[in-house]
Amino acid sequence: MSGFELVVAVIYLGAAVCFVLGLRFMNSPVTARRGNAISAGGMTAAVLATVVLLIHSGTVSGAAWLVLVAGTAAGGLAGLYLAQTAPMTAMPQLVSLFNAVGGGGAALVGLFHFGAAGEPVATYVAVAVVLDVIIGSVTFSGSLIAAGKLQGLIPGKPITFPGGQLVNLALIAVVVGSGGVLIAGVHSVLLLILLLLASLGFGVTMVLPIGGADMPVVISLLNAFTGTAVAMAGFVIGNSVLMIAGALVGASGAILTKLMADAMNRSIGAIMIGGFGTGDSAAPVEAAGGQVRVLSADDAAIQLAYASKVIIVPGYGLAVAQAQYEVHELASLLEERGCEVSYAIHPVAGRMPGHMNVLLAEAKVPYSQLREMEEINPEFSRTDVALVVGANDVTNPAARRSGTPVSGMPILDVDQARSVIVIKRSMGHGYAGIDNELYTDPKTGMYFGDAKKAVLGLVAAVKTLVG
Ligand code: NDP
Repeated sequence: MSGFELVVAVIYLGAAVCFVLGLRFMNSPVTARRGNAISAGGMTAAVLATVVLLIHSGTVSGAAWLVLVAGTAAGGLAGLYLAQTAPMTAMPQLVSLFNAVGGGGAALVGLFHFGAAGEPVATYVAVAVVLDVIIGSVTFSGSLIAAGKLQGLIPGKPITFPGGQLVNLALIAVVVGSGGVLIAGVHSVLLLILLLLASLGFGVTMVLPIGGADMPVVISLLNAFTGTAVAMAGFVIGNSVLMIAGALVGASGAILTKLMADAMNRSIGAIMIGGFGTGDSAAPVEAAGGQVRVLSADDAAIQLAYASKVIIVPGYGLAVAQAQYEVHELASLLEERGCEVSYAIHPVAGRMPGHMNVLLAEAKVPYSQLREMEEINPEFSRTDVALVVGANDVTNPAARRSGTPVSGMPILDVDQARSVIVIKRSMGHGYAGIDNELYTDPKTGMYFGDAKKAVLGLVAAVKTLVG
């Protein structure tokens, strides 16, 4: 190793340390931004070191530099634009698109390296190429389908077709067969392309039958796949920073997937095999049995203004309406009157992990008021008013019974509060696509409206009431 290469290796090591520190800082909303910046700094240093190494080695031709610069500029600008313009509620599909690009890019590295070798490669390289192409292409096609489902371009409900299982088995047979022959030392680009096509097909048939409600978990799993494919690409071209970054993404993605599946009390295997909710929100006006008590802003304000303990339960509807600022304003108003206010955070409220924490932090809600499910649940029975803002499934008592699509999912014990106010636009379903028994509970009052406008209405009504 020349002195120059040693310097680059040390920069790669520094970058790897930045990635690990970044992940550590991302553990808390207070330090998450710093974590992001540290990781991005590490990656920038690694990319610059690679570019300098390429210039120094003189192996890249003028035309190839053009492709490199144009690709970096186009990809960088597209990423910047998407990250700045995508609404927070569309983050899962954006992550899915990024996963597709990462997985596809990793697969191309394996494909190119194998094709360019022109002769049999060492067995460990063949193993890395085969795994890289399989995982990368499954991630590419699977992530595109997942993003399409979340964006509503493809129906969210599980899509199956006759003979689907047979097609899956045939694709797996082609993948295992061609991959095995390639690893055995046969140098055939055609066979590698067959492996690529079968893996792409498998990515599609794997994700199509999964219901929309499970899609965020699938996206997290595909994110872990992306990391693994990138690590494999690192092995293929002998680049340590790719190996480390890929392994970190793979491992953290796998942990996140497990946490999300646990929060919904579902096994990853069950998600991959069977659909859960439809993902398509119907909006029936009538509840399925039971009387619904409708509240006006004034009715709800009276309950809140004279409560001494209020728990706010945010959900996906709060995110869509961007009502976090108004909710914080209402909470501050109640606190000024001596009321104790806290926020109950369900681990899968919203559409991605940490969704509610990020939104409420944006509105400067004190972190100390954000309480995790296990911590806040025992407090509902001592609470005067539980104010549910655009949350549905995560409050549905039906989860405690067997035989419903949400059965077994841990929920916030909102129904234990002395009184419940629910803000949403209609009797429409949540992601799981079922009625919520909380809405027909005699102590629940429904205050219909868009979360932002409804909470603004509450703020005005409380102000009028207390002068
Ligand atoms: P839900 O999807 O259960 O319900 C959200 C509710 O918000 C809807 O019933 C809707 O009712 C209401 N709503 C929509 N827009 C507005 C608006 N502008 N103003 C007021 N209300 C609105 O959300 P939850 O947060 O309770 O639950 C999250 C769901 O997502 C769960 O099913 C969970 O399993 C799933 N999920 C979440 C993951 C995560 O990581 N966060 C991962 C995987 C799945 P209406 O149309 O009547 O207004």
